[in-house]
Amino acid sequence: MTTKPVRTRFAPSPTGRMHIGNARSALYPFLLARRMGGTFILRIEDTDQKRYEPGAEQELINGLHWLGIHYDEGPDIGGPYGPYRQTERRAIYHEHAWKLVELGKAFPCFCTSERLEKVRQEQLKNKQNPRYDGACRVIDPDEARRRVNAGEKYVIRFKMPKEGSITTADLLRGSITTENSALDDSVLLKSDGLPTYHLAAMVDDHLMEITHVIRGSEWLPSLPLHTHVIRAFGWDEPIFVHLSVFLKPSGKGKMSKRDRAEVMKDGYSIFLGDMQELGYIPEGVLNWIALMGWGVPEDDVMTLDQMVERFDIDGLTASPAAINFQKLDHFNGAHIRLLRTEDLAARIKPIYTQAGFRVDDGTLLKVTPLIRERLVTLDDCLAFGGFFFLEDVDPNPQELIAKGLDAGQSAEIARKSYEILAALPELTHSAAEPPMRAYVEQGGHNVNQVFGILRVAATGQKVSPPLFESMEIIGRAKVLKRLKNAIEILEKM
Ligand code: GLU
Repeated sequence: MTTKPVRTRFAPSPTGRMHIGNARSALYPFLLARRMGGTFILRIEDTDQKRYEPGAEQELINGLHWLGIHYDEGPDIGGPYGPYRQTERRAIYHEHAWKLVELGKAFPCFCTSERLEKVRQEQLKNKQNPRYDGACRVIDPDEARRRVNAGEKYVIRFKMPKEGSITTADLLRGSITTENSALDDSVLLKSDGLPTYHLAAMVDDHLMEITHVIRGSEWLPSLPLHTHVIRAFGWDEPIFVHLSVFLKPSGKGKMSKRDRAEVMKDGYSIFLGDMQELGYIPEGVLNWIALMGWGVPEDDVMTLDQMVERFDIDGLTASPAAINFQKLDHFNGAHIRLLRTEDLAARIKPIYTQAGFRVDDGTLLKVTPLIRERLVTLDDCLAFGGFFFLEDVDPNPQELIAKGLDAGQSAEIARKSYEILAALPELTHSAAEPPMRAYVEQGGHNVNQVFGILRVAATGQKVSPPLFESMEIIGRAKVLKRLKNAIEILEKM
């Protein structure tokens, strides 16, 4: 084990929207750094100009802030190992690529894409694995330098040993030995002067003194090459951890962010921006993501601080993680219930406001604890509690008719309820419930019938938070007005 201070990084490519795979690749190194009193870094890997998307970096930064995954060094805040955006480090990669050439571990390659394609086709025809055929490996180094200086287009390739094997280590999978003959002379520096991931990430992880490289398992096949590159420079190897893959909700096959039908299913989404809009809270999302690849004994509800306390890198698992949106709902609801009233109120207020409700803080603070138990997402506050902020409600006439009764009988119950409630000086929970229960007992109707009519009349809906608490918040005058309206509706039927 390393004795150096722990430094970990999240190194996303700004090539699209931030999804749960990115979030998990950020979370574990963050947890490790915080657990070990180390440093967590954000590094933007933007060397693939073809896949670059403007705005993607900002979305990643916003996503990290939303989740509460704060980094100690990064492109927008700087730090002692910067710059933290790879396109601003071109000279560093250039210098390192040529260093490998000097060491005889890499070589400039002048092959045109037409030639490479021809070689590839031939290899495929002969049932060989397509790979670089080594044409430029044998060019004399001085000659190669001259051609480069003369302005000829080139890339720099790693000079993969032809013989022997390499043994690499992944913390979750142990050591893996690969024959060098199975490996390619991969490109390290492209003809546009920018490095490939294979060079850039190894150089940066070394220069930034990264101790643990935690990354997606799509990089596992490249680990032998990466280990070769690191050893060619004579550097220490970081501890590599390749995270498990995500499986589709159906359990069939690997999840891809391009698989829109699966990732946006039934009002769910794997993109953080969507999740935020759908009313998920960062605490719930984090808890859900944390347990997809980290084997804690139970599906525990944990805050970020609790995760830091419990995090153990050896607890990460290599087995595929199934995406289960029901679990997301479970964790989201659980974390909503953990929020303090003021905190939850502040989070649902904008949802009401955006939906056109006029919300006063006094009422909101009373409503919040009443609806909290039922919220799965923040948006549910509209369905469960919108009626608190309306002047009038618009009940469905059919719903005003209690089960087993007709409109006339229901109107009678509504009139009687009105009488009872109107006779009270105050419509508090404790004042209203006893006379209404007494009426149920004497009136010959059951409690569901009587309270059902009252509920639909007062709230406009069949399902609501507890009836008497709700009526107390709605207030006497409005409840009576709504009840009168319900009586009129029933009498007209
Ligand atoms: N830029 C790479 C990616 O987004 C980073 C992988 C890594 O963490 O090294 O896949």
